[in-house]
Amino acid sequence: MSTIDGSAADLSRRALSLAVSPTVAMAQRAAVLRARGQRIFDFSVGEPDQDTPPHVSAAAVAALHAGRTRYAPAAGIPELRVAVAQRYKKDFKVNFTPEEVAVTVGGKQALHLATQALLDRGDEVIIPTPAWPTFGEAVRLAGGRPIFVQAQEKDGFKVTARMISRASGPKTKAVILNSPSNPTGAVVDPEELLVIGDMAQRRKFTILYDDTYAHLLFSKGDHSALQILRDSVGDRFVILGTASKSYCMTGWRIGWVIGPRPLVDACAALASHTTQGPATFAQVAAVEALAGLQKFVQSLAVEYRRRRDFLHPVLAAIPKVTCVEPEGGFYLFPNVARYLRAEMPTTLELADRLLEEKGVAVVPGEGFGTPGYVRISFSRSLDELKDGSRRLVSFFASLRGETG
Ligand code: PMP
Repeated sequence: MSTIDGSAADLSRRALSLAVSPTVAMAQRAAVLRARGQRIFDFSVGEPDQDTPPHVSAAAVAALHAGRTRYAPAAGIPELRVAVAQRYKKDFKVNFTPEEVAVTVGGKQALHLATQALLDRGDEVIIPTPAWPTFGEAVRLAGGRPIFVQAQEKDGFKVTARMISRASGPKTKAVILNSPSNPTGAVVDPEELLVIGDMAQRRKFTILYDDTYAHLLFSKGDHSALQILRDSVGDRFVILGTASKSYCMTGWRIGWVIGPRPLVDACAALASHTTQGPATFAQVAAVEALAGLQKFVQSLAVEYRRRRDFLHPVLAAIPKVTCVEPEGGFYLFPNVARYLRAEMPTTLELADRLLEEKGVAVVPGEGFGTPGYVRISFSRSLDELKDGSRRLVSFFASLRGETG
């Protein structure tokens, strides 16, 4: 993975050790080719293609006119803390008080604040892979040590309690679970979650539960385990959430940490010395998103399911490619390892060739700790997916042609 070029500057070890996000790197390369006039299918993106719902934007405009332009409390405006707590109660039947919610600058800052608040130097955090790259970077930035454990394609990339148990030891401070997962779309089964919860209690580690894609589920979700975890694991159960994907609000930078009061207070204290939280009027708009009509969110899930149902069979039918069917989110994570060869030994080169020869941008699996795979986002229109997937199919056909 590439890092920042510090040769011309006197940068800290911290900055020099940062891995540049592979998703951002690929999106930038796609943008350069597009600027040269090439038609590019950008399946590397990690955000919905739909606009923010109009009633949410209208609430922000009204808030601006109403003078909601001043500092907000570091833990967020009270109305939003209430709206987040109520949303979780309605959708997942988990009870948290508004004081157990801190508003953050997107899900990314929720993760950073929680890791900064929890970790001391050398503390270990178990991260099942394939994993969103920021998990590992956030742990390292907080002085912790990520312990990566590989979920297997043959198991549908499911995280199991056994995986976590084998990786845990005396230095384990936390486990990061992401359900549905970026990049695999796998969901952690409720039974496994409960066993992990029991383990967290006994071995005294915290579950950091990233539910960014929780509303983009393709079948009726079973959220019963969350409720049980909340009751049984209590202070060791922390939710990291965001309005980015469910409400198409990636640029608004609204997220949250939900958990025990001391942790939430620590996150707010950290925010008070860094960002002081997201823009006040953006927080007002987020209240509208979370407390208003949820029809938008439901229709979004239906649309993403339609896209998955189109794209997954296309990929799974490509000879020598295998692909787990995602249960949620908007990514496919096909195994393309059987196409690798001496002159294209990794998925980094494969993704480069795919972009150059066919104008299709995907993210190599290396970025998620799992070489041999690529992440394909289906947060594009169905028409775009149809045209782009034809190019994908022809790319693999031409590779087969080369080897005879
Ligand atoms: N968690 C996961 C798993 C994600 O994929 C993302 C976005 N890519 C986030 C958190 C954070 O998103 P944001 O900062 O936009 O809320």
